[in-house]
Amino acid sequence: MNLRTHAYAGNPLRSKTPKSTDSFSPSSAFKSLKSLIPSIPNHPTPSPDFKVLPFSKGRPLVFSSGGGDDASSTTPLWHLGWITLSDCKALLATRGIDLDENSLVYLGPKVEEDLVYWAVDVSSQEEHGVVLELASRKLCFVEVRTLMVAADWEDQRAMDELAIAGHARALLEWHKVSRFCGACGGSTVPKEAGRRKQCSNEACKKRVYPRVDPVVIMLVIDRENDRALLSRQARFVPRMWSCLAGFIEPGESLEEAVRRETWEETGIEVGEVVYHSSQPWPVGPSSMPCQLMLGFFAFAKTLDINVDKEELEDAQWHSREDVKKAVSFAEYRKAQRTAASKIEQMCKGVERNQSLSTDFNVESGELAPMFIPGPTAIAHHLISTWVDQGSGNVHSKQQPGVSLSNL
Ligand SMILES: [Zn+2]
Repeated sequence: MNLRTHAYAGNPLRSKTPKSTDSFSPSSAFKSLKSLIPSIPNHPTPSPDFKVLPFSKGRPLVFSSGGGDDASSTTPLWHLGWITLSDCKALLATRGIDLDENSLVYLGPKVEEDLVYWAVDVSSQEEHGVVLELASRKLCFVEVRTLMVAADWEDQRAMDELAIAGHARALLEWHKVSRFCGACGGSTVPKEAGRRKQCSNEACKKRVYPRVDPVVIMLVIDRENDRALLSRQARFVPRMWSCLAGFIEPGESLEEAVRRETWEETGIEVGEVVYHSSQPWPVGPSSMPCQLMLGFFAFAKTLDINVDKEELEDAQWHSREDVKKAVSFAEYRKAQRTAASKIEQMCKGVERNQSLSTDFNVESGELAPMFIPGPTAIAHHLISTWVDQGSGNVHSKQQPGVSLSNL
């Protein structure tokens, strides 16, 4: 598979943060933005220029291209709906809100294009007018998860845009849940172009940084019988099985978290734990703006399964042959086309429903009895690495049989 990094990693706007003296840096760009806003729209084009990605309720603005109405047409492509600073000011003005530089969050530059990118949250109870105005331009707000399902994981452009959307969503959602200081209860204000916050109480001034919630995700392996443990949560779509996962607790090492979670959820004891790779996951609940998935192979010492029904619907050992059949790209392509068409319909104003839960559930004679998460999830790569490499290789102390280069 041709993947450069995991989905949401490899963000092209984040490759390096410019030095503070550089005109593309957060502080310089913010100063320039601040002086520019009052003169919009009668201002000369600045260098670097600015582009803004509006979000509503955690959903970025997108448009769709390339689809068609007949059956032979190609899968439509979604693109982020960047707007100019003037557009952004006009959009907010329709709601009676003045554009404030502090509402813009720095995402990063593209130096070769002389551009600095920002995100802004335009959510409101009365967003109907804004949505209608944008709909007339064939733009709409779409959940990042929907964009993820609709993205072609082999298309670098699509994966770059997905990474930018994920980073921006994580930052904006964090701004929403960090409005007050945890130490004194004072209100917080954005600093460094929205890259951190600070308590406004002069006696406190606590600095607050964007939150990341680490999660261990592990493929438990029965080396002797050449089997892997896959599990189902009740919230999964039908037929989907995946790795075990759980949050790391304070005072715990990664290896301890892998062993504890596996024991709690399935009653299996784990011995050796081997790191595989990690993936930012900015599409969890908004109370957790960005999870960091830390992927491991976990080698079982005991094999009897005792499922904790509070946590899991089921957990079972599966042979390598069965798991191989579950890596079904036909299913991911089908889901991708369905999601991409849905986004196209949403941008045309035809479709309102954001739910994709039914898309994997279309019954047909060709469906595999089970499938695993798609290539945009780290679980897919843990499972497919084991399937392709064999358990002899994955326990190597080297980067264990990584099928993606440069993770
Ligand atoms: Zn405080």
